[in-house]
Amino acid sequence: MTGPEARVAVVTGASRGIGRAIAQRLAADGMQVFALGRDVTALGEVSDSSPNIESRVCDVTDEDQVVGLFAETPPVDVLVTNAGVASSAKLTRTTLEEWERLQAVNATGAFLCSRAVLGGMLERDWGRIITIASVAGQRGGKYIAAYTASKHAAIGLTRSIAMEVAGSGVTANSICPPYVRTEMTAATIANIVDRTGMTEADAEAALTADTALGRLLEPEEVAHVVAFLANDNSGAINGQSIVLDGGDIQT
Ligand code: NAP
Repeated sequence: MTGPEARVAVVTGASRGIGRAIAQRLAADGMQVFALGRDVTALGEVSDSSPNIESRVCDVTDEDQVVGLFAETPPVDVLVTNAGVASSAKLTRTTLEEWERLQAVNATGAFLCSRAVLGGMLERDWGRIITIASVAGQRGGKYIAAYTASKHAAIGLTRSIAMEVAGSGVTANSICPPYVRTEMTAATIANIVDRTGMTEADAEAALTADTALGRLLEPEEVAHVVAFLANDNSGAINGQSIVLDGGDIQT
């Protein structure tokens, strides 16, 4: 096994938000990081932020793009499947198209990327697959059936990988944040403002009012847990879903 400075990490959905914070944290920890996304301008800003980050365009729902990307990437030690999309609607108003869009990114994207790296990790007997799921992967929620189903699928995928790799130097785990301060949550807040006429500050307070954490999570707090799971000394943690909600859900 090589030292952490030589490790190669791939982070999907790293053009902004949580993925960007993860890419920057792993780069600061000395890894060689490949930041994936579709927005070339935003990706350029991320790779410009650290000499340890290179960016690559890759739509995680496109099998050919994913296979091609990993064929050209050095052997991957740490995969963070973070790319995700969210939306909200009553089940009776959820279209098949919207349902499939969320499954394609949040579940199938995680599957395609995990499948691409797992064989190599097992051959080298070291690897970390870390999926950014959600508290919506732990329980149901009103008006988010498509998102919730996709995050349960991502956690189910991670747990099954964990069973396949048990006893090797590879682990697979997921992280379950509540609302995080990113553009995804800004869209949710904008929705509340639109529907209720509340101020942005009140809408943000309403989102977290009855939660144990009582505030939005910061992207860097998610990145911290990724770095912890990626560490050499975390090899006994496998098949777990780590919830970052301050204590509401206790697994
Ligand atoms: P965000 O700010 O909206 O960023 C989403 C990222 O996913 C972007 O980098 C986007 O990149 C990428 N992405 C979307 N579709 C993609 C596709 N088809 N192929 C490749 N990349 C794609 O979201 P975020 O808040 O950082 O969320 C990151 C992850 O955390 C998601 O899985 C989300 O479900 C999860 N999460 C978020 C929250 C929250 O409150 N924000 C809470 C729990 C879990 P491009 O636009 O460049 O393609």
